[in-house]
Amino acid sequence: MTLALVAPMAGWAGPLAELPDAAFAEGMVGDGLAIDPVGDVLHAPCDGIVVGVHRACHAVTLRADNGAEILCHIGIETVGLGGEGFTALVADGERVAAGAPLLRFDLDTLAAGAKSLASPILVIDTDAFRVARRADAGRVLVGDWLMEIEANGASAVAASAQDGPALMRTITLPLGYGIHARPAVAIVALARGFDAEVALASGVKTAPATSAVALMTLGLAGGERATLSARGPDAEAALKALARLIEHDFEGTPPAATPAAPIRGGWVTAVPGIAVGTIVRLDVIRRDPPAQGQGVVFEMIALEEAIADVRAALDRRATSGAPAQREIARAHLGLLDDPRLHHAAGAAIADGVSAGAAWRAALAPDIAALRAVADIRIAGRADDLLDLEQQVIAATLGPATDAPALPDDAILVAHDLLPSELMALDSARLVGIALAGGGPTSHVAIIAAASGIPMIVALGAEALVLESGARAVLDAGAGTLKPADVSTEIEARVRIDTTARKRADAQARAGEACHMADGVRIEIFANLGSLADAEVAVAAGAEGCGLLRTELLFLDRDTPPDEAEQVALYGAIAERLAGRPLIIRTLDIGGDKPVRYLPIAPEENPALGLRGIRVGLAHPDLLETQIRAIVRAGPPGQCRVLVPMVASLDELLHVRRLVEDAARAIGRVDRIEVGVMIETPAAAITADLLAPAANFFAIGTNDLAQYTLAMDRGNAAVAAQVDALHPAVLRMIHSARRAAGDHRRPVGVCGALASDPVAAPILIGLGVTELSAVPGAIPELKALVRTLTRSRCEALATDALRQTSARAVRALAMGASS
Ligand code: PEP
Ligand code: MG
Repeated sequence: MTLALVAPMAGWAGPLAELPDAAFAEGMVGDGLAIDPVGDVLHAPCDGIVVGVHRACHAVTLRADNGAEILCHIGIETVGLGGEGFTALVADGERVAAGAPLLRFDLDTLAAGAKSLASPILVIDTDAFRVARRADAGRVLVGDWLMEIEANGASAVAASAQDGPALMRTITLPLGYGIHARPAVAIVALARGFDAEVALASGVKTAPATSAVALMTLGLAGGERATLSARGPDAEAALKALARLIEHDFEGTPPAATPAAPIRGGWVTAVPGIAVGTIVRLDVIRRDPPAQGQGVVFEMIALEEAIADVRAALDRRATSGAPAQREIARAHLGLLDDPRLHHAAGAAIADGVSAGAAWRAALAPDIAALRAVADIRIAGRADDLLDLEQQVIAATLGPATDAPALPDDAILVAHDLLPSELMALDSARLVGIALAGGGPTSHVAIIAAASGIPMIVALGAEALVLESGARAVLDAGAGTLKPADVSTEIEARVRIDTTARKRADAQARAGEACHMADGVRIEIFANLGSLADAEVAVAAGAEGCGLLRTELLFLDRDTPPDEAEQVALYGAIAERLAGRPLIIRTLDIGGDKPVRYLPIAPEENPALGLRGIRVGLAHPDLLETQIRAIVRAGPPGQCRVLVPMVASLDELLHVRRLVEDAARAIGRVDRIEVGVMIETPAAAITADLLAPAANFFAIGTNDLAQYTLAMDRGNAAVAAQVDALHPAVLRMIHSARRAAGDHRRPVGVCGALASDPVAAPILIGLGVTELSAVPGAIPELKALVRTLTRSRCEALATDALRQTSARAVRALAMGASS
């Protein structure tokens, strides 16, 4: 049996060797770690019996249930303080649970009188026990996993035979999917089903898979790597299942109705749209619990009852609320049951505070830790904990005043807003929301997006200028909240009606072929990643598929797809497209798109490593099987081959030869088109060399922008600036398009820029004749293109190439369209 010790105080963990005391530093007293504390209470690192509170109260020894003796020693040379600055909270012989408070100490007194504040946490009977694993150096919070103690000798052999060694696996989070509330809760739920101790580690931080909050505070963002470890009888199965969940299932289930979040200046559009209505200021009065408790038993019961009430309310919402609310309630339920929070709150109650104050104290370090995470999506999860804090505190205090009654057309204005506060309001009466604070990916924003309520966040003081009852116009796309008079109100209503009508008209004409106002044909295709997408795309008016991302078709498996399986799936997609062109891209594995059946060794810089066609060339069987399948799929002429991440002509020629060989082998004599993705600067610059060997170009603006601007498309710190309308990217497209034109090769765009209505006129002006967009954007994209003329687009593109920034290009294009 192994014994896990949790951090008995918040602070900075480090090796004993760094202690300024030879007896501790050289392990003569025992083995373990030191913590430089930032709090003022020592908690129990495990369940056990207090076998000794030192006379000077500066150290406590616990005997754990497996017999190991653990010494927690506050500071170095603190015995000399003779008890000054220390208060014992337990007595010898007392039984304590992990997390229970043992000692209180005054950091200022210690800092003045001790040689060091660094406090060794040691297993002292090292003949019988040893430290099997310990946390890396870094910040720890009370209750974080700290180290694992194992019995030595015969008992150790027995223990390892039972538990087995810790199995480890490095995983990569899918792009855009950090460990925020719902993934964390899903990990905890899955890990619970295995007889194994599972942990997730990133850098110096480790989180047990039993704690959703600890998992969130790892701050793991999409594209990052982490280490999964598991120990125990089900270790292998647990590791496999969790790795699959994190690496693949999360990617398959993006958060529902995640709002769009263009960031311009301070404010952020969380949900685009315009609203006219009456301001309702929700001056949220958050309730404060009394500091002092009325006795440990009374407060423990009060806390339990409050948590039970909140759990019951969340349970109701998780089964009967609207879909977005159900998901959020489930995530909150997972957080509410986090054992670390319960431990910490229990410890605070034992310290003498009230149930509500204890709950607040238990959540405070995690809220602070989440706020400090750089990834805005994870930092935003602090609001979920704040919400739980408020709900439990409110439950300890009893019923509050009712939610405010709303007028029929309320524009809600607040400093910030929690999901439970929004859900308590009648959403049918809400037409808009403006927050001074908040974030675009918060759960409040997700609920607003799901209900189609325009919303601006981070508007600052401007959000709070208007008083309740004032009439106002909220333009979430433009980031404005302005008082309305009769004329601005009418004008806004006209805009709202026009937008709704335009959307309905666009949908009504979605099935018609797309021609510009001057008759020039522009094909509007769809990007697909599944068979289901094909159906949605056709209904939205797609005239073909400009990019089938085949790597997405075969994610969730341990073996690569065989030829027959691929022929069947490509054939089925071709059939759904009912004769429309289908451009099938060969597997674009690697970089931000790892797959389990083809593990790629860890790379220092995956975006510049083995990915796209380079993977196919390194694994010829995989590439050749896929080419044979594409050549066999669908009726002649419908399927085309597209080659990703090409950096030189040889790669394209190689694939073309494979296509010709495969066609010859089955006796096909018709031409099978082979296109090249222009998504590396190398391909854009040497487009004149590629064009003779390619039947068409497909410009991947996502990667072309990433590599041209040297900004990682998955790095939250720069992702907002990876705008493919940057003149450098436009110039790449321009030069590639001219080279294609010299050889009469058509050029399409299949990166995200193709779905952006601001970009479409510029791309068409540069000579692009096919836009492959996300299916949902197609009706309005077609409607827009029908209003354009080639000469206007060309003039706009010429101007765009002369701009100095993406922002300037956007301003130019938006000015031209208004
Ligand atoms: C692109 O890079 O623009 C592209 C379409 O490819 P992906 O997004 O799949 O990398
Ligand atoms: Mg790409």
